[in-house]
Amino acid sequence: MENSKLVSEFLSLVDVENFDTDYYRNISDGKYFGMPLKSIIDSEKRLCLESEKRIAYFSMEYGSATSFYNKFSSNIPVDERNMSQEQEVFSNFRLADYFFALNLNNIIDLPIYSGGLGVLAGDTAKTMADYRLPVACVGMLWSAGYFRQKFWFKYGQAPEQMRWHLGSYPGLIPFKNRVKIYLKNEEVTLKLWKYYVYNYAHDYAIPLILLDSNIEPNSDRAHRLTDQLYRSDNVWIKALQRIILGKGGVAALDGLGYNIDTFHLNEGHAVFAFIEKARGKTPEEVDDLRKHFVYTCHTPVQAGHDKFSYDNLSKVLKKEDLDIAYNFGKDSGGVVNLTLLAMNVSRVINTVSLNHQKVMHIQFPAYKENIKYVTNGVHPHTWISENYKQVFDNFTSAFGDVKANPMALEKALTLKDNQKFRADVWQAHQANKDVLCNFLDKWKLDQNIFTICWARRIAAYKRPSLILQDINRLLDIAKRIGPIQIIFAGKAHPADDLGFTYINQILDKVDGLTNVYDYLKVIMLENYEIYLAKMLTSGVDVWLNNPLPPFEASGTSGMKAILNGVIQISTFDGWVAEAADKEIGKIFGYRNEEGKIGDEYNLHIQDDAQKLYASLEEIVDLYYKTNLHGKVDLNSQWIDYMINCIACAGHFNTYRMLDEYKKIIWGRK
Ligand SMILES: *Cc1c(COP(=O)(O)O)cnc(C)c1O
Repeated sequence: MENSKLVSEFLSLVDVENFDTDYYRNISDGKYFGMPLKSIIDSEKRLCLESEKRIAYFSMEYGSATSFYNKFSSNIPVDERNMSQEQEVFSNFRLADYFFALNLNNIIDLPIYSGGLGVLAGDTAKTMADYRLPVACVGMLWSAGYFRQKFWFKYGQAPEQMRWHLGSYPGLIPFKNRVKIYLKNEEVTLKLWKYYVYNYAHDYAIPLILLDSNIEPNSDRAHRLTDQLYRSDNVWIKALQRIILGKGGVAALDGLGYNIDTFHLNEGHAVFAFIEKARGKTPEEVDDLRKHFVYTCHTPVQAGHDKFSYDNLSKVLKKEDLDIAYNFGKDSGGVVNLTLLAMNVSRVINTVSLNHQKVMHIQFPAYKENIKYVTNGVHPHTWISENYKQVFDNFTSAFGDVKANPMALEKALTLKDNQKFRADVWQAHQANKDVLCNFLDKWKLDQNIFTICWARRIAAYKRPSLILQDINRLLDIAKRIGPIQIIFAGKAHPADDLGFTYINQILDKVDGLTNVYDYLKVIMLENYEIYLAKMLTSGVDVWLNNPLPPFEASGTSGMKAILNGVIQISTFDGWVAEAADKEIGKIFGYRNEEGKIGDEYNLHIQDDAQKLYASLEEIVDLYYKTNLHGKVDLNSQWIDYMINCIACAGHFNTYRMLDEYKKIIWGRK
């Protein structure tokens, strides 16, 4: 009885489509796909209360991996399309590549992200839930995901269409409500979906509203607008995807009765939300609206700032919308720049690291006052491995309850002289490395061989193949000092020719190394996704991060690594610049001059490759002095580095980040 009351209360708040035919199977007995239904009811009620200062967080992409966090269960069989598929490996051990493939048999990540920006948005949503905030997240339901990555030797990356099944993805539900947005010559109807992001304790859950244009009565073109993330076939599709997120998102929030106080634009993509809110308002009212918008900018690279000509926008936007976009967003060249637009309509802007703030102050001096910085973080409960959780739980006298207060990881420094802690940290690391070695067992990775990883989105400024520039130098280090295992992973945007070239370069170099496998193993993995990120960031000895300064606004994958005691070799860029004096590994390479940005196309490859080898040589040497064929020297400086990393993770996490959002971004004086 009590339970059916919960279900009717839920249904009175959340208007689920096909409840009686489908969803009743997973929303019953007080449960929502295996999680407590009451948590949703609590947060949905709060989102309708006028007394709450409600926040809407807009992002084009969200990364979350149901396979290990926010784990939903389902009473209907999961469609095969929602399960991970086999994928290949490209290594210099060709025989293994030929005979074996990898498969985790996991439910796939909700396929609505492409890389770091989405993972950050997902981590932010999870932390907002942990903080029990009255927040609604808004995003897009990409029915064809981003893309599935295949490699072909002698060719490179061959993107394939990704297919998944929305109707049976656990935790995802459709709404009866439809909302409309009005464009120049058409109306686009949007179906709404919701996915709930639970907190760690599962007693609170925030809604992620997802917009879907793939329904009647939309035109054929409009049907496809929400199929593939970052489709770039033509400029109108690019503009329309952004218009749907912003305008459609506002229409959805209104339709759901959430009266929002603060609109947080995660990237300029979502800025059309302002235009939707501004429609029909007087200039004074429009000016007042700016108090309710805040904007997080994520990149200094050119490709990150969307620009649309007046002409192109005039083909899709109504005159009134176009005027607002033009008034607030035209740059000196007369085109609408979404970064500028977002800055002009926001009360406060934040960059994602201190270094990034310096860059933006140079790029946009007129906005200096409004451009603050809040360094990114990662969600600790997602990224701490079970083995490290155990270590922290064993030292509650120093850490207290890390689950409740991840900032306490800073206390790791007080345990530096504790032999048991040093031993546990090393052992937990070896156990994580073991997981990775087992996953790749056919490639005969060795737990006691130095292992380094470069994995992230493939983009020119991130310099993916830097470590392969001088193969002879690399081989010399491996032969002289000790063997090396290198793992690569990452997707290049299908329209990014330079990215494609990088993948080609890596595959080509790997192809040329077939007879040195005894001391240099190089492995390239397809489809870098969150479950792989978790295994790699926790399972290798060193995380390699070599972007060209100052173009990595923050970077977050290294933060996942330090949470697991994985040390860094990095350039002085993004978040690492703020931790450079903390001895978390080696900082190397070119630095931009203070006060100058430099040229994002002058990559300093040759010089920086040599500097990278110098750092690598020292680190490999230290590694083999620390780990002598499995016999470990616990007093080694290596363990100090690991402990420094853990201590730093007390700062570079989303708990600290949200505390700063509250103070610097959302707080209003
Ligand atoms: C964390 C993460 C990224 C971001 O990596 P950076 O090094 O910050 O660029 C990209 N992709 C996935 C799958 C991730 O988990």
